[in-house]
Amino acid sequence: MKFYQQSRLQRLTTLRQEGHLDNSAYQYFLNDQGLTQERANQLVENQLTLFPLPEGVARQVLVDGEMHDVPMVTEEPSVIAAASNGAKMAAQGTGFQTKIQNRQMIGQIILENVAQPERTKQNLLMDKTHLLEVANAAHPSIVKRGGGAKDLRVRILGSAFLSVDLIVDVKQAMGANMLNTMLEAVASELTTTRQDNCLMSILSNYATESLVTASCVIPVSVFEIQRLAGNQVAAKICAASQVAQLDPYRAATHNKGIMNGIDAAVIASGNDFRAIESGAQAYAARDGQYRGLSQWHVHEDKLVGALTLPLPLGFVGGATKTLPIVQANQKLAGINSAEDLMRVVAAIGLAQNLAALKALVTTGIQKGHMALQAKSLAISAGATTNEVQWLTAKLLQTKKFDLRTAKLLLRKLRQ
Ligand code: NDP
Repeated sequence: MKFYQQSRLQRLTTLRQEGHLDNSAYQYFLNDQGLTQERANQLVENQLTLFPLPEGVARQVLVDGEMHDVPMVTEEPSVIAAASNGAKMAAQGTGFQTKIQNRQMIGQIILENVAQPERTKQNLLMDKTHLLEVANAAHPSIVKRGGGAKDLRVRILGSAFLSVDLIVDVKQAMGANMLNTMLEAVASELTTTRQDNCLMSILSNYATESLVTASCVIPVSVFEIQRLAGNQVAAKICAASQVAQLDPYRAATHNKGIMNGIDAAVIASGNDFRAIESGAQAYAARDGQYRGLSQWHVHEDKLVGALTLPLPLGFVGGATKTLPIVQANQKLAGINSAEDLMRVVAAIGLAQNLAALKALVTTGIQKGHMALQAKSLAISAGATTNEVQWLTAKLLQTKKFDLRTAKLLLRKLRQ
């Protein structure tokens, strides 16, 4: 029986038997030991209740020669199925190859009312060594771990603002809090010793020093369908990718598809998905026009795809320890470092994109979606666990996908 046809318990058993879940992670998933009200009350303000979301797993995502099972948290039907489908297609070629271009965070101290921007910039740069020392003294533990402030750059913004950019090696953390601590220490130094006017200091989510690329090379024959040859489907995928480079309307949806996978994997990893979203969207507009984050082309009968985006993800810190499920997810995913996480999440983004583009240029997105949407509709209409399968099949038969029809059919079943 295929993994997706198994019951939840069978799936957990399969994962344990295949060695993807150790006993503690298996017990965790089995017994559904979610977040307690008590812990939730410690995490946010004015806490009232919990808001559970489904978690599934994209299976057999081949990243740099290693298979990963990637936990994904999403409310949207078809996202996990599509990611698995994209990963399966990629595995028929090279799988995903990844390259981490760098892994540092950028923070900004904004100076305002700067009378002589160019002169101030030069003065700040001359003071770089001292300012880096101030930053590192504010968070000595990261220096002990081999990280810390590595560089300081200055950019003139408009006629009277300066951005003092601090570049920090945050090791295994996402680094927002440690960076903000360092920035505030440097800002205080600038205010007291140089009388600079500091408007604010905070990290930048435009994490251009944390770029990762995932790519894959797949024989075009993999894309063959009944009415189209593999090279024809591959050519259409390339054309779709080209349109996302030309048109922001299409690019936004192209990137939404990528982020369907990335956000789901990022949430499961306990990282701040808003930080990842804002960085990815800013990167998509890096040359002044908003464009698709991934690109596809055909080379010697192979479809070649690549996705580059900032993924400043943490393996420690943030919610990785406060949300108990994150450690079980790290084990399931076979992720042992922030770098592993960057690679796997980028691969999921490209897998998701491939599956979406293939569906769009062949059968259309609705065919696959409707089966899953029909199931959601059945649940919304109030079907019990035993009724869901019947009602989903009926909705697909009638091809009427609205709540009224779902409720009418359910009433008939119960009569
Ligand atoms: P934490 O504040 O939890 O800091 C991570 C801590 O982990 C470090 O300070 C370090 O503490 C400890 N640590 C243990 N082992 C390591 C290691 N190997 N490498 C690095 N650190 C290690 O998290 P972050 O600083 O990563 O900040 C992330 C949080 O900040 C997220 O929750 C995010 O939502 C939030 N945030 C985001 C903002 C944004 O995106 N704009 C703004 C503000 C906050 P020690 O060295 O002392 O042991």
